[in-house]
Amino acid sequence: VPATLPAPLLPGATLGVMGGGQLGRMFVHAAQAMGYATAVLEADAASPAGQASQHQVLAAYTDAQGLAQLADLSTAITTEFENVPAQALQTLAAQRFVAPAAAAVAVCQDRAAEKAHFQSCGVPCAPYAVIESAEQLAAVADELLPGILKTARLGYDGKGQARVRNRDELAAAWAAMKQAPCVLEKLLPLHREISVVLARGIDGACVELPVQQNLHRDGILAVTQVPAPDVPEALQRQAVDCARSVAASLQYVGVLCVEFFVLADGRLVANEMAPRPHNSGHYSIDACDVSQFELQVRTMAGLPLVSPRLHSPSVMLNLLGDLWFDAQGHERDPAWAGVLALPGVHLHLYGKADPRRGRKMGHLTVTAASAAQARATALQAADVLG
Ligand code: ADP
Ligand code: MG
Repeated sequence: VPATLPAPLLPGATLGVMGGGQLGRMFVHAAQAMGYATAVLEADAASPAGQASQHQVLAAYTDAQGLAQLADLSTAITTEFENVPAQALQTLAAQRFVAPAAAAVAVCQDRAAEKAHFQSCGVPCAPYAVIESAEQLAAVADELLPGILKTARLGYDGKGQARVRNRDELAAAWAAMKQAPCVLEKLLPLHREISVVLARGIDGACVELPVQQNLHRDGILAVTQVPAPDVPEALQRQAVDCARSVAASLQYVGVLCVEFFVLADGRLVANEMAPRPHNSGHYSIDACDVSQFELQVRTMAGLPLVSPRLHSPSVMLNLLGDLWFDAQGHERDPAWAGVLALPGVHLHLYGKADPRRGRKMGHLTVTAASAAQARATALQAADVLG
């Protein structure tokens, strides 16, 4: 029987988080700002979240002693990393209130389960097939090609994916993925991408951030704009309704992000979901009166959820490790002074010592009085960074 919260956890309590990445770091910042203490379980002693937290448990996600230590330190526990084994959350839940619950996280961890869940909620997703055997590979319908083969588990930032034009490429890609369980999705003509970040409380009450419009480069989020400039409001409302029904039928408690495609013909298709705050919601720290991380704190503490209000149009730019290298491949520091001279620029760095290409090192949020001004400043910032 999972532990419940008898009463709201008030400031002074210690909140635990599984995972030490940047999402955990921003969670820690939000929790501490509200007067909570934090405990981070993560094997890496120099993790982004661990550096910021009062308490650290240096352990693997599956380490029984580490889990017991985290449970001892914390009154409620959440996760910042989607691939924390659901079993670990299950173990913690015997002792402490855990949100989101292991069962909901498990659905988000498996693309096949995730798509089946979307469909069970009447939420459209891309045509797909599950590939777990040579028979299923051979039986793939022609209409799924060209497509994208994605490993069912553990993919992120476009990793664990291959675009395939025909059956030969499909077979080769599956072999290259060591015949891991996969889904093959039809390659869709994307017009825009949007996402919905919502928070759902123990009582089922639900609030969401304004809808984000996202631009990906090489499968990695590059830019988020809010308000979404190119997607009609009716479609945005439809996306929110879909995300709410996906969360409600999981009896979800916590922050959930659902990513959507808007197709060239105007249809809305759910892509994937994440059982935690999301990169596309980072702008809320600077542009909303309640951030996605404060909402995470509120859901796990059983506090009332208040509807976030966007107070400034904003553009978020991800800062990848590539910026730490010049044209010759020599390591350098990005041009922070130039960027910080621009109005409305908020710099967030995650405390990662080791910049690598494609690695998320930080982000910039530009806020301004108008969307046009936010865009103009974001373009200048991108220019300064080179
Ligand atoms: P990840 O877990 O790496 O974020 P996604 O499934 O979200 O994986 O894919 C990353 C990006 O690849 C998407 O944001 C989108 O730009 C592109 N993409 C993924 N699936 C499709 C598809 N079926 N058709 C067209 N583009 C896709
Ligand atoms: Mg994605």
